[in-house]
Amino acid sequence: MKISVTCQCGKRLAASPALAGKRVKCPACGAALIVPEGDDLAAVRPVATGDAASDLWDDLPALAAANRSKSEDTLAAHHAATANQLLEEARTHVVEQKKKEDAWGTGQIISGLATMVFAGLWIGLALIGGRIPLYSPFLFFTGAIAFANGVLQKVNRSK
Ligand SMILES: [Zn+2]
Repeated sequence: MKISVTCQCGKRLAASPALAGKRVKCPACGAALIVPEGDDLAAVRPVATGDAASDLWDDLPALAAANRSKSEDTLAAHHAATANQLLEEARTHVVEQKKKEDAWGTGQIISGLATMVFAGLWIGLALIGGRIPLYSPFLFFTGAIAFANGVLQKVNRSK
């Protein structure tokens, strides 16, 4: 059962019974108060200010608990916001990474095809000219590898 205390500043406070008869400091205005004892709910006697400031309000379970839960809520909200931000950044990163990979795959396919066409023409011209192509088949092979890489990348990503 909390003891009701009304400060001279008008602030209504609930003090722990453990503080009955003790001198405390009003959290609102800082005035020194004496918590009434037992059922004595009479006006609180103001005491001379300038006394050693009492930190007893800090021991008030209700006040302390309220403050603690408030700061815990703030901390939890902060953590949640930070987590959301990190998650959002990670998502953005993954999307950008996928775009890069996609562009890379497309580039591999296009350059691979271009290389194969070029090498194919080279081989054809060499054969028409009656020469045995040496470098162009290797180039064709290189283009085919690039093309296959690009296609594999696309296939893997669509899974
Ligand atoms: Zn007060």
